[in-house]
Amino acid sequence: MTGTEKVLERYNKRKAEGLCTYCGKVPAAPGRTKCAACLQRTNEYTKRYARKLKKERRCTICRQPLTEWYTKCAACRAREAERYKRCKTWDVNLPLTK
Ligand SMILES: [Zn+2]
Ligand SMILES: [Zn+2]
Repeated sequence: MTGTEKVLERYNKRKAEGLCTYCGKVPAAPGRTKCAACLQRTNEYTKRYARKLKKERRCTICRQPLTEWYTKCAACRAREAERYKRCKTWDVNLPLTK
């Protein structure tokens, strides 16, 4: 079994038991896969990391140095646009969150 499979197995087991998939110690928040503390922690980390990349003028996805005044490089922006288009046509019944 590879490391990734092991992580995934643990993740699925915790998810099935309704536990936080991150720490596995406490029940996950309602409708989420992580507990409130872990959600907060990962959120903070992601935010801080994005801010750091923005300050360094690097793409927030692939971390390449940016040449234009965007937070993502041209390749990542194109990829996101493509994915967004596909999502819109494939998951038309998916409720729009956020
Ligand atoms: Zn947790
Ligand atoms: Zn990029």
